[in-house]
Amino acid sequence: MIDLHAHTTASDGSDTPAELIHHAAAAGVRTLAITDHDTTGGWEEAVATVRQLDVPFTLIRGTEFSCIYTGDGVRISLHLLGYLFDPDAEALKAERARMRESRVGRGKAIVDALVAAGYPISWQQVVDIAGGGAVGRPHIGQALMQAGVVDSVTDAFAHLLSSSSPYYVPKREMPVQLAIELIRQAGGVPVIAHPWARARGRILDEAALRSLPGLLGIEVDHPDHSAADRARLAELSAELGLLSTGSSDYHGTRKPVRLGAETTSPEALQRLLSLATGIEVIRSEPAAKAG
Ligand code: AMP
Ligand code: ZN
Ligand code: FE
Ligand code: FE
Repeated sequence: MIDLHAHTTASDGSDTPAELIHHAAAAGVRTLAITDHDTTGGWEEAVATVRQLDVPFTLIRGTEFSCIYTGDGVRISLHLLGYLFDPDAEALKAERARMRESRVGRGKAIVDALVAAGYPISWQQVVDIAGGGAVGRPHIGQALMQAGVVDSVTDAFAHLLSSSSPYYVPKREMPVQLAIELIRQAGGVPVIAHPWARARGRILDEAALRSLPGLLGIEVDHPDHSAADRARLAELSAELGLLSTGSSDYHGTRKPVRLGAETTSPEALQRLLSLATGIEVIRSEPAAKAG
């Protein structure tokens, strides 16, 4: 199984990078991408873990970038996956740092608003839950769960944390065209994440998806996509000559989805690898270890 989108404690997943690799291997995933929000912070531990693995395993290092699409008077938040880009490419590195920094002030603003409304959580609690990872709403969701306000992080997103909630505060986002360019300049492969995850808010329509020069792929199969949307996205992706991926967007205990719940074809993976010039994949060496 090939799963190209997963989160760790470097952002808002609940598995450490080492746990993620072990869980993926145990679930039968043989190629996994680590794609934390706006950070490469989990890469090093993931690489070290893969090198020690006893099963054939390929790690693809990536990041899920927080982006904004602007056109025709609309502003739409979206996520862009970047795979195998050079982490030292300066402009992109600086943007990641700015986005992570913005997540702190923005997380605190959401918590302040919730506290002012009487919800019994604190910023310190959220900081502790985030444990140094890029702060996100799922961490606030877990604080609300610990406080007994909601039964699950998913429940917290239904109202209190949704983008239409009175407590919502936006975070810094990169213009998507800039993100595509910087990922390409760094030798990476930009793939738009869950473009039609409609429950999250406004989404890019077909015309907008067609208007992103330099984009190399579309995440077609994703837990938040309907069957009809997957079919249409697959057609669109093929028509535009883009590669189509499928991924779980695993977040550990902070979301109900399993590793390998959605997968990418070996052909699409090969194409992705052939397009990447930034950094290499990391492969385990079980035979060498056994010998
Ligand atoms: P943020 O990056 O802080 O704006 O938070 C967005 C993150 O929350 C994304 O990684 C989503 O995967 C996650 N998220 C969005 N909707 C939900 C939901 N309904 N349940 C759990 N996590 C969600
Ligand atoms: Zn997330
Ligand atoms: Fe996402
Ligand atoms: Fe994600």
